Amino acid sequence: MLRAHAEHLNPDRVRFNHELTGLTQDESGVLATIRDKDAGRDYTVRARYVIAADGGRTIGALLGVGMSGPRDIMRMVSVHLTADLSPWARDDEVLIRWLVNPDFGGSFSGVLVPMGPDRWGPTSEEWVFHMQYATDNLEAMQEDKVLVRMRATLGLPDCDITVHKISTWVMEGVIADSFRDRSVFFVGDAAHRHPPTGGLGLNSAVHDVHNLCWKLAAALAGRAGDALLDTYESERKLVDQANIDNTIANAMNHFTIDQALNLSADNTPEQNWAELRPLWEDLPTSHGKRHAVNQAIGSQTMEFRHHNVEFGYTYSSSAIVDDGSPDEVPLDGVRLYEPSTRPGHPMPHAFVEREGERVPLGTLVHGGKFLLVAGEDGHDWVEAANKLAAANDLPLTALTVGVLGADYVDVRLAWLKNRGIGRRGVVLVRPDRYVAYRSIGEVADPAAELTSALAHILATPLA
Ligand SMILES: Cc1cc2nc3c(=O)[nH]c(=O)nc-3n(C[C@H](O)[C@H](O)[C@H](O)COP(=O)(O)OP(=O)(O)OC[C@H]3O[C@@H](n4cnc5c(N)ncnc54)[C@H](O)[C@@H]3O)c2cc1C
Repeated sequence: MLRAHAEHLNPDRVRFNHELTGLTQDESGVLATIRDKDAGRDYTVRARYVIAADGGRTIGALLGVGMSGPRDIMRMVSVHLTADLSPWARDDEVLIRWLVNPDFGGSFSGVLVPMGPDRWGPTSEEWVFHMQYATDNLEAMQEDKVLVRMRATLGLPDCDITVHKISTWVMEGVIADSFRDRSVFFVGDAAHRHPPTGGLGLNSAVHDVHNLCWKLAAALAGRAGDALLDTYESERKLVDQANIDNTIANAMNHFTIDQALNLSADNTPEQNWAELRPLWEDLPTSHGKRHAVNQAIGSQTMEFRHHNVEFGYTYSSSAIVDDGSPDEVPLDGVRLYEPSTRPGHPMPHAFVEREGERVPLGTLVHGGKFLLVAGEDGHDWVEAANKLAAANDLPLTALTVGVLGADYVDVRLAWLKNRGIGRRGVVLVRPDRYVAYRSIGEVADPAAELTSALAHILATPLA
């Protein structure tokens, strides 16, 4: 789907089996050398900007931009296989299964993940089985030994399994020393690599480019100053570092289950199995152990219900106009997303209506446009925004939301609950759906306020 969309936007110019082999920069941009591996020839491409989305394989080294952080958190071996595991993987509400097998350690004995491609529940056709190995354990490199351990951990010595690929990889927690080198912007795994615990790798990559692309579009159209492009690093680096910290903490938090079970690598397998018995036998230690395990599993919500990490992250930079309101103290900065229109926060979701049709307010932020949402009596803001947009060729949609006399009807009061502004106030949302400016109430001169706010955000003078 992504490929079809990219080819639709850029016909005949999405090129597979082409490799960037060289890159030089000057004042007007970048000269890249590309090898067409099918034709066996090199050619050059001149570009104003480059998005380095190479997983950290080439461009960082070419420009001398390094990465810092822990590099050897855990060694993993992953087996991609086809098998019918439906007789055992019966619960279709489970996505990922952590198998604790005392013969092979604790929580990372085996992690079983469905891979579809057509079905993703218990009848998934393909699976990946991840196993942790000690860094110095040479068995991780021996495919036959890896498969013996996989079958033993699964408890399925005779199951019909077709193995497609076995790969080894190391969990690291590194971040690029710089997210921008003149005309080059590092995104995704080229900017940060961390454990998959929490599923934040590709998600953070998408967040990166979502943050960057509207800024590049504004700069290329001559609507923004270069300083707007610097806010890519100042906004994303903090969030990506927080994501790295979070994913490492998630990986380590699996060991709380082992602690609750009292499993230890220093014990014999027999001792470790004995530690599990109070779970399925009623012994004097059973109540305490079951409660401890229950708590340890509950604590995994930091990985599996981390809504504030996934959605509630905030930005602070020159592309956000601070309204002077105090920082909000989160109730739980990991698990709980608390909607807010304080500048720097993602615009809260709300269903509103137009001609009886239900519309998520967030979908009105699209096509690279800013969205100005005023209260029901904020028509002055809308008028000022439309004039400013026309005078400066700015992509900006302006509307009011409220109960009576507004462009969109807040039938369920979903917006009112979170909008954080009064009837004459306004929220200005960036094309990446982040609140850039807010006025809680009316101001003497909305046109002057908006001009100053947008000039600040776009780092360019406005008429
Ligand atoms: C076991 C595991 C589970 C994961 N689970 C999740 C998950 O649940 N959710 C999640 O969000 N993320 C997850 N991730 C992380 C996710 O896979 C990565 O973060 C994501 O693939 C990064 O995308 P990227 O485009 O930045 O880099 P990559 O996927 O590495 O893509 C970079 C591409 O650039 C190409 N390239 C490199 N150099 C050149 C060059 N010189 N010229 C041309 N092309 C070049 C490479 O061939 C590659 O195709 C997981 C990772 C692992 C290992």
